[in-house]
Amino acid sequence: MSFVWVGHLSSAQSLPFRIRVGGVIGRKSMAGGRISLAFFILFGALIVGVSAIVGVSAAERPGSAGSITAATNDLPVASDVRLAGDDSQTRMVVDFSQRVEIRAFALADPYRVVIDMPQVAFKFRPKTGEARRGIVKAFRFGLVMAGGSRMVIDLARPARIDKAFVLDAANDQPARLVLDLTAVDRDTFMRLIAPEARAPETARYDPPPGNRSASDPRPLLVLDPGHGGIDNGTKAATGELEKSIVLDFCLLLRDQIEKIGKYRVVMTRTDDTFVALRDRVALARSRQASLFISVHADALRRGEGQAQGATVYTLSERASDARAARLAEAENQADVIAGLDLSAEPKDVAGILIDLARRETKTFSVQFAQGLIGAMKTSVRLHQSPLKSASFVVLKAPDVPSVLVELGFVTTKSDLQSLISTDWRERTAQAMAHAIDAFFSTRLATQSQN
Ligand code: ZN
Repeated sequence: MSFVWVGHLSSAQSLPFRIRVGGVIGRKSMAGGRISLAFFILFGALIVGVSAIVGVSAAERPGSAGSITAATNDLPVASDVRLAGDDSQTRMVVDFSQRVEIRAFALADPYRVVIDMPQVAFKFRPKTGEARRGIVKAFRFGLVMAGGSRMVIDLARPARIDKAFVLDAANDQPARLVLDLTAVDRDTFMRLIAPEARAPETARYDPPPGNRSASDPRPLLVLDPGHGGIDNGTKAATGELEKSIVLDFCLLLRDQIEKIGKYRVVMTRTDDTFVALRDRVALARSRQASLFISVHADALRRGEGQAQGATVYTLSERASDARAARLAEAENQADVIAGLDLSAEPKDVAGILIDLARRETKTFSVQFAQGLIGAMKTSVRLHQSPLKSASFVVLKAPDVPSVLVELGFVTTKSDLQSLISTDWRERTAQAMAHAIDAFFSTRLATQSQN
């Protein structure tokens, strides 16, 4: 991994954020201060997801996805990006309203360059990052954690970072980030990134501490709005993003469930922040959740025909059909999209106990999925075959019954209208809360009979 440090960020804004590394929660206010180098050293590429799950107290709870954008007026603005060059050398230039500190490094499989920076407001033109130029195949940008933004550049071929620096504003030119890439062969690329391919110890997920779990015996549910931050998920032709649709929906669903009074709810994210897939699963496991519900919105690709309605997915190694397999593959790309180094991922620990737990968990997952479909079908349009299964990473907790709900298709006009309608959201959340209550009532009744 080659990386470059440049300068210091002088920031006059107040950027309150929470960090969480190695089991310590710190709350820092950077009012009028400098973001120290340590900030970025602590937040290497591999730990970006960790901070996203930090518990948010009631007073700070955002009401909607707009909570982060509310403060963006004070942020450095990335206003334009330009690409130049060819297949052997490519330069990227990004204009900023002020100098920002960056850290650039490369990742393999797929080949990517990641640029980390403090939180900035990206105000690029629509479709920025979608067209290929030279070595740059495409790129994404967005928040990866509170206080931290990232650009992830997909490379058309392995390349070396020749330069990555930020120029001060001068001679009517704004502050500029310059990234120079030169094509190299795979062996060279792998050699360049090898010494730092290992995850630092601090990168291991350390879940937030349980709050009321010791004293509160009510079952805990984890709601998991898909995607977030740099990972937009699917996108409607009219611009609505899956990450925002599912967050708004989950906030509503949380309220509906809490209203019942019998359950505790934790969300994997309550704002527009990226959360790694493994961290979503780890949160459910560490809190000993009784149920995990991941919420998404699907999109049809060209040539996939027409489809509409909600679908509930459970985990299976072999997908129920080819489309389900493709969907799981797409949803499982979240960490790659956000620039995580998957080569440092721990392998699944397999064992007979886990297998046993898995079997029981699977039974409960399917039972809940069926109940969910039963409760939803009276008030919500369902897909023609609404119960499916595939190998979703996010459903892999061996001991927590888990389902993934695709609320509908953002590419289907009637579905999109539903997804953004308050009335539809309320009806659907109500039906889901009802199904959750029925599931636990049955489970508790069965347990007390034994
Ligand atoms: Zn999704």
